[in-house]
Amino acid sequence: MTSQATLKQNDMNQAATDQTGVFAKEGADETVQICDSSLPQFEDRDNQETKYTTCYMCACRCGIKVTVEDNKVRFIQGNPNHPVNKGVLCAKGNSGIMKQYSPAKLSSPLLRKPGTERGAGEFEEISWERALDMLEKRLARIRATDPKQLAYFTGRDQMQALTGMWASQFGTINWAAHGGFCSVNMAAGGLYTMGHAFWEFGDPDWENTKYFMMWGVAEDHASNPIKLGLKRLKERGAKFVAINPVRTGYQAIADEWVAIRPGTDGILALSMVHVLLKNQLVDEEFLIRYTNSAQLVVNTPGQKGDGLFYRGSLAEGKGEQPQVWDLVKEAYVDANLPDINPALFGEYTAPDGTPLRTAMSIMLDKYLDEQYSPEVAAKECGVAAEDIERMALEMAHVAFKESITIDVEWTDWAGRKQDKFIGRPVSMHAMRGVSAHSNGFQTCRAIHLLQVLLGTIDCPGGHLAKPPFPKHVPPGIKPAKEMAPNTPLKSPPLGFPTSPEDLVIDAEGNPLRIDKAYSWDAPISCHGLMHMVISNAVKGDPYKIDTLMLFMANMAWNSSMNTAQTLDMLCAKEDDGEYKIPFIVCSDAFNSEMVAYSDLVLPDTTYLERYDTISMLDRPISEPDAACDAVRIPVIQPDRDVLSWQEVMVEMAGRLGFPAFTNPEGKPKYKGYKDFIINFEKEPGIGFLAGYRGKDGEKSLRGEPNPRQWEAYEENEGFFEQRLKPNQRYMRHANLDYLTLAKEASWVGSTNQIVIELYSEKLQTFRLAGQGLYDGPMPTEEHHKERLVKYFDPLPIYYMPLEEQRIDRDEYPYHAVNQRPMFMYHSWDSQNAWLRQIMSQNYLYMNRVAAERDGIEDLSWVWVESHNGKIRTQVKLMEGTNEQTVWTWNAIAKRGGAWGLSDDANEASDGFLMNHLISELLPQKGDKIDRVTNSDPVTGQAAWYDLRVKITPAAPGETGSWPSFAALKPQPNAKPSPDMLSYSSHKNVNLVRSMSDILTRGEK
Ligand code: SF4
Repeated sequence: MTSQATLKQNDMNQAATDQTGVFAKEGADETVQICDSSLPQFEDRDNQETKYTTCYMCACRCGIKVTVEDNKVRFIQGNPNHPVNKGVLCAKGNSGIMKQYSPAKLSSPLLRKPGTERGAGEFEEISWERALDMLEKRLARIRATDPKQLAYFTGRDQMQALTGMWASQFGTINWAAHGGFCSVNMAAGGLYTMGHAFWEFGDPDWENTKYFMMWGVAEDHASNPIKLGLKRLKERGAKFVAINPVRTGYQAIADEWVAIRPGTDGILALSMVHVLLKNQLVDEEFLIRYTNSAQLVVNTPGQKGDGLFYRGSLAEGKGEQPQVWDLVKEAYVDANLPDINPALFGEYTAPDGTPLRTAMSIMLDKYLDEQYSPEVAAKECGVAAEDIERMALEMAHVAFKESITIDVEWTDWAGRKQDKFIGRPVSMHAMRGVSAHSNGFQTCRAIHLLQVLLGTIDCPGGHLAKPPFPKHVPPGIKPAKEMAPNTPLKSPPLGFPTSPEDLVIDAEGNPLRIDKAYSWDAPISCHGLMHMVISNAVKGDPYKIDTLMLFMANMAWNSSMNTAQTLDMLCAKEDDGEYKIPFIVCSDAFNSEMVAYSDLVLPDTTYLERYDTISMLDRPISEPDAACDAVRIPVIQPDRDVLSWQEVMVEMAGRLGFPAFTNPEGKPKYKGYKDFIINFEKEPGIGFLAGYRGKDGEKSLRGEPNPRQWEAYEENEGFFEQRLKPNQRYMRHANLDYLTLAKEASWVGSTNQIVIELYSEKLQTFRLAGQGLYDGPMPTEEHHKERLVKYFDPLPIYYMPLEEQRIDRDEYPYHAVNQRPMFMYHSWDSQNAWLRQIMSQNYLYMNRVAAERDGIEDLSWVWVESHNGKIRTQVKLMEGTNEQTVWTWNAIAKRGGAWGLSDDANEASDGFLMNHLISELLPQKGDKIDRVTNSDPVTGQAAWYDLRVKITPAAPGETGSWPSFAALKPQPNAKPSPDMLSYSSHKNVNLVRSMSDILTRGEK
């Protein structure tokens, strides 16, 4: 079959059709004729099947339909029934097929050849049996002697519930995923304020919000979901304001772009708080009912107990509960009693003479101060004072004058019936742009304060939690600190400290963890500090380790700060010739830069080849109105000698005799990962998967193991969804209908109200420790005391990012930030044949006006220098960036030879990593702070967006990116990568399609 068409391209869009399939365009200089109206021949589908699984080209976890033939992926589509993406598939998702065809796939376990150096890439292929025996022997020795000698860190793996549990059972506290490098400030800022946060923890109410403010987002996070949400906003005519130094991606379609100076979002948010308070535009009822702002705070500066909540004394008949002043009873009453009338403002005196004031009064005093006025804030953040005021008033107008109601009866936490949900339709979203600064935790708290004052939390049109969130503030897990040989930890390695007693330090105050998480350096480091592990282990600070085990963590390239020096550290040796980190194990599906620096390499499967769970025990795929989780199911069988890391974890747990993985005889209890997922119960009826539980799969959220659970997920296209009833969908921090369900599902420990903590007494306990006024652990080093006093303010504050505090800002006049592009995720995709066609070289983007002022031309090469080092890169000029900011895409640059790319691939010769400029330590000044992590002082979040640089033109002839590194060796037996990696349709396909079929969409 052939179609004969004579078309002029510029006429095609206007072509009209008649009944015979002959096309004619009036007024065209040439008649367009298509004579053949027969349908094209599509490929033969007889041998094809469609399988459902979950995308893993980024962290959004969209549902996909994969068409498979002869154990090969034909194409990938979005699953229209899936709650996350509703059929939408992004460029990355589509390109999953090229990931599967990647020549960089590892094909068998590798052992560094004896006598060769780390980094040389000299490996011998070994059997899985030998690899696992070797690992078992080493790990068994460590576990039996000193379990903390194993440091186990993972990348963006989506299986932290399993890896965390594995580390607990092993008995090492040295475990974390990459959250400390990514966005722990966002998570912790929310969890320590309202029990949920942005992104995986909550979403804007896209269907009802009328005013949406997006703060410094990174487009690779919340990709399809945000795109779908923005589409709904545009359809409904809601206003979209983007606060971001760079106008790309989502910002490009915003109604208003606010080109803020990086790292100053906190002062902008708090200045808007100032405007709201000054104009008395706050939701007082919301504050009284749902927050701790009416609670009374002891006001005795310089004395023990200052800043803590007043709880009365047992002599007064009081117990443990914070007190409020009841305006009707004219007495102090427990803040958590129902039917009380708390005073929101005021100063009082306790019966014993202690001066008290409400948390709200403290807020009023603090934020009405001139330092938060729009005029002062404008000088710091670069946003005009009138714009700050206008945006605050606009949001207040929408919240209070355009409020909405949903007439659904619901029951509040105290059992009182409410006849409607009141909605304040203002919502926000924030992500790494805010998070990756050393003031990010307090900035996230400041943004939440703004939301709470407007009453926009978990209400129609506002910011909605996603089950299993919200949790009580903060979640009740404490980080483990005690270890013993061959003994599981008593609690998980990561948790949520609420006072200095929870720190993971010894009696002298020294850190117990290799990354110094939960030490005085970063007391609330709930996701660990992965970026410090190599540096600390090599220096033996606080101690040396035996084995570093990494999963999907490319620490030899873009998952490290200070990359060039990190490579040196990985190869650093003791005087006796032994490596300072004696043994490095890595598991990855691809030949990443980390492979060459490992001693044992365990090849993982791709996401299309494995079983996996996106579990309710972790951060599942829930939507605000539905509890959802999902699975990955192999859609093709591996054609290599690989094993999924899930299987390795379960196998190793059985071999090492972990109690949760063995029977009373000490023999492995599970036949593999699938069996483990079905039968493991965290508590009766609660397992990794919440759907299709019970013997016959008829139970949801809680129920005994179902032997056919995997099949049930497969039959339901790879996910489980339990929609919440209308009375469970809002105000979930105080909604008994919801909290009862949440307790039954083990998402919360009680049905008590989740009180939003605008004032954090937990932070104040650390501050008192810094002041020497705490009955418990207190730091001895002056700089620790100073940091606690300065940064552990119980109310959100703004302070200048730490790097800026320690450098000469005039010498380094530009902020340098990264963002990950919407079309690539982490380091995974600049190997992808299709995605490389979108971009294969990153540039340093710079504001045109600033560049011309500095004599820098478009596409010229420049030197970029920080306090830590210098790089050479090529510049592109643009209008849509703040004048004091330069930026780049972070995922593009690669090392030659890695990832199956040729030695001179664009990504290696012209792409660059900004990571070389960023130190894992604060700028060196010869003081005690020199060894302090370049991180948020509260959470330990890597402060890689704090970077300041100077830029100078490169000399004539200085071109190409620098530093450059020798190309890595290909893996043993690797086939040379083809010059062109292509994917084509079946031979039997004729894609010439008749115009009549195109225009009638096949219906004719
Ligand atoms: S947004 Fe992420 S998970 Fe969804 S299709 Fe794209 S790459 Fe896959």
